[in-house]
Amino acid sequence: MKALQAVRGMNDVLPQDAALWEFFEDSVRDWLRAYGYRNIRMPLVEPTALFVRSIGEATDIVEKEMYTFQDSLNNESLTLRPEGTASCVRAAIEHSLLHQGAQRLWYGGAMFRHERPQKGRYRQFHQIGVEAFGLPGPDIDAEHLIMTARLWRLLGLSGIRLELNSLADSAARAAHRQRLIAFFEQHRDQLDGDAQRRLHSNPLRILDSKNPHMQPLIEAAPQLNEHMDDAARAHFHGVCATLDRAGVAYSINPRLVRGLDYYNYTVFEWVTDALGAQGTVCAGGRYDGLFEQLGGKPAPGCGFAMGVERLVALLQVQASPASQHAAEAQQPDVYVLHQGDAAAMEAARAAEELRDAQLRVVLHCGGGSFKSQMKRADASGARFAVILGEEELVRKEVSVKPLRAQGVQTSVPLKEAIELIRG
Ligand code: ATP
Ligand code: MG
Repeated sequence: MKALQAVRGMNDVLPQDAALWEFFEDSVRDWLRAYGYRNIRMPLVEPTALFVRSIGEATDIVEKEMYTFQDSLNNESLTLRPEGTASCVRAAIEHSLLHQGAQRLWYGGAMFRHERPQKGRYRQFHQIGVEAFGLPGPDIDAEHLIMTARLWRLLGLSGIRLELNSLADSAARAAHRQRLIAFFEQHRDQLDGDAQRRLHSNPLRILDSKNPHMQPLIEAAPQLNEHMDDAARAHFHGVCATLDRAGVAYSINPRLVRGLDYYNYTVFEWVTDALGAQGTVCAGGRYDGLFEQLGGKPAPGCGFAMGVERLVALLQVQASPASQHAAEAQQPDVYVLHQGDAAAMEAARAAEELRDAQLRVVLHCGGGSFKSQMKRADASGARFAVILGEEELVRKEVSVKPLRAQGVQTSVPLKEAIELIRG
């Protein structure tokens, strides 16, 4: 029978790569605790309307990237989540989380977008999302950027630069929109198909186009900051000043708009040149209108999402000492070998005692010659082999053999072996 394969654009993460994923996830958990963010877990499937109402109809995601299906039992349109912010806001509204005050939340997991698979772009990918609800000032926007800068340091990553912009408020965007439409209409012949289609539905998104032929036109387009009011200016200034004080470098990119409709005020992307075309590893901003748009009481929100595949790829490329150390730390301390039926049973018991002493222990299973067991022990990456043969059994001892450092094999009682291994 022909073997089946995974769905295109949806990947297995194999054990040799999972070590780096776990290093990333462990680092992220510690980092989020350090800033007082609490974990929230939402379903992978939501009503389609949630994403249409939040992300916006004239966006890449809603137009062509969603995995949408009809639940035939109750005739409801459902969608595999393409991102987490909409679900997180829905959950906050549904469970009245803001009654308990402002919320700092995070989530992680798989997202689904029907995109053309390529390096750094997949149909199932993973995000860590961070959101803050109920906080209107620039202090929290700045916190998100300052904390992200710290994460890169914790992971040992370098060369990730911050691009920042303000999308102002809806009045400014409406005025800008009229000028953009007028400008692009004058240059209609230079617009690609996507841009022509969006000219009236979502002209701001034309600025987000990845088509290199359109870049000169986009650079010449009227800029939003000409329409910004004092409040928007003050907010943006507050973010920038806090970053300056904290020593977080950034560059202001007036053409930075996000691919989703719900943003206002601050938007940002963290970008690296080390990954080729898919260089944005983290992106986000403020979305003060989203609660109301989803049927909740108005409440400010801001947040960001990281692309885990892209960050793990960067860890691989940059091979930071922190990540290498973490991969090594995953290896077992001890591999337990044994010869004979009685020794096999004692080995299972002794392995438990070693684990009681906080050691990481792999017990040899499946029998085999001493030589083949020793090969396994070497391949396991363990620091020590603990050997139980008939002789050891009689002496009520085990043999301890260092596998990765110089040293002789010694026969000692298990308690002494534990001391020896723990160093
Ligand atoms: P892009 O411009 O690369 O399509 P986006 O604006 O659609 O990104 P967001 O919705 O802001 O991306 O998602 C946040 C982050 O999630 C991105 O910066 C990226 O790191 C990651 N990401 C988004 N889509 C994918 C994907 N299809 N495969 C892998 N990672 C992704
Ligand atoms: Mg996209």
